[in-house]
Amino acid sequence: MTNFDIMQNKMKLKINNRFSTELPADPDQTNVTRQVKNACFSYVTPQIPSNPQLIHFSEEVAAMLGISNEDAQSSEFTNVFSGKELLPGSRPYSMSYAGHQFGNWAGQLGDGRAIILAEVENKEQVYTLQLKGAGMTPYSRRADGLAVLRSSIREHLCSEAMFHLGVPTTRSLSLMLTGDQVLRDVMYDGNPAYEKGAVVCRVAPSFMRFGNFELFSSQKDLITLKAIADFTIKYHFSEIKGNTAANYVALLQAVANKTREMIVHWQRVGFVHGVMNTDNMSILGLTIDYGPYGWLEDYNPNWTPNTTDREHRRYRFGNQAEIALWNLYQLANALYPLIQEAAPLEAILEAFQSQYEEEYINMMRNKLGLSTIEEEDNQLIHILTENLQLTETDMTIFFRKLGQIKKEDSVEEAFELIKESFYKIEEVVDKTYDAWMYWFTQYLNRLQQESISDVDRKVVMDQVNPKYVLRNYMSQLAIEAAEKEDYSLIEELHLLLKNPYQEQDKYQKWFAKRPDWAREKIGSSMLSCSS
Ligand code: AMP
Ligand code: MG
Repeated sequence: MTNFDIMQNKMKLKINNRFSTELPADPDQTNVTRQVKNACFSYVTPQIPSNPQLIHFSEEVAAMLGISNEDAQSSEFTNVFSGKELLPGSRPYSMSYAGHQFGNWAGQLGDGRAIILAEVENKEQVYTLQLKGAGMTPYSRRADGLAVLRSSIREHLCSEAMFHLGVPTTRSLSLMLTGDQVLRDVMYDGNPAYEKGAVVCRVAPSFMRFGNFELFSSQKDLITLKAIADFTIKYHFSEIKGNTAANYVALLQAVANKTREMIVHWQRVGFVHGVMNTDNMSILGLTIDYGPYGWLEDYNPNWTPNTTDREHRRYRFGNQAEIALWNLYQLANALYPLIQEAAPLEAILEAFQSQYEEEYINMMRNKLGLSTIEEEDNQLIHILTENLQLTETDMTIFFRKLGQIKKEDSVEEAFELIKESFYKIEEVVDKTYDAWMYWFTQYLNRLQQESISDVDRKVVMDQVNPKYVLRNYMSQLAIEAAEKEDYSLIEELHLLLKNPYQEQDKYQKWFAKRPDWAREKIGSSMLSCSS
């Protein structure tokens, strides 16, 4: 029996490749950087890692795919999900796509360092398994197709943390070291250094992006554009029936809805993606491509973790909904040739803003524990977000603590409860203090109108206001330990963030404001795209 037989017996992965069997392949099978026409993907083989080593895997994602814990600890698992050996019956490939980067048309991009191993079926669900960092592809342009340990840890931990927060996201099955060195200039200042190479295996129903559609539209290849749109509807939006141009209008509507839902979740938990280019926008409304993302610590709508975007802050926290809409305009333009009528597309895009505002207000109402709708809520929420910016105030701690307030509390008692969320309490004096007194007066009055009990309100609030999020410095600590071959913090954070809404007494230390050392530290408060 060969290793492959053992593995196939053990992992029992059932391959069901839909994308690569139903959509056109690039006839060129060389692994050379090129412009690809009329093809949705190019076949490519992962680079063989010199000494792959499993650092961590997600038991839940493994189970979702039908892989047991025992199998996940086998050498076959390490070999397959590091790219060393091919899954029997698989034929890996990279997707072609284009995109708008930072507002500008960038032309063909494609999976420069992502290789899809296979689509795998388990319990009637089909999942795409994709290695990130497994070497060059025809879309690598001038880069190396590799990924470093630090960015791979960030992707692995954050995708699972987001999932457990209830945010639509791609998942992460495994994190492997390749045993190879990768050269990176972290600050783009002419000081490249070698870092440990790593590979993550991402999992999602599909990795298609807005950019997949933009590519064929820009190439005026309406046949492939139609093929990819029909494929998307068939497998991912099967509620869209019929075979007319109206289907593609319905597709835009469905993608707009999913995208809006995702952004509302980002705003709820304080997630900043950092690079919302159209090639990083999932057609399924999943958070995808964890690069220089970050978590709001002090509530600052102008904050972006991405150093490349520091000047214009296009992808700042407070701008994410607007950018999502901008990106949807690009998707609408891409779909237009299949529809030939602008009005229905415009109607969808024009409605986006007001729909978003309504959903945002409802989400904020939930964060405040308001179960009824009152006209004054908009004002209450507006003043709150202004107040949160008066002095550095920790978003996660503030909202979590707010759940402990009781209707009959005095304004001072309410204030006392959330005090811990201020980074500099000495700044909460005079006008700032008065502003908070005013807001708490309004909020307590508002709570009086609610019939729900304090205890029940707290239960509901604790389900939308996480206690634990993957603060930027937490990943950084896990990375620094991992660089020294200590992977215990990766495991600890992974476990902690499986239950972000639950009180976890033994992990109380992670319910704390960002420490001072992390304020301006690269990796903790600022990140470059170098990964
Ligand atoms: P991003 O904005 O990081 O999602 O990347 C934009 C484009 O650059 C995508 O086409 C990526 O596949 C590609 N890319 C990023 N990093 C690398 C790398 N190290 N090697 C090859 N391609 C890369
Ligand atoms: Mg990307």
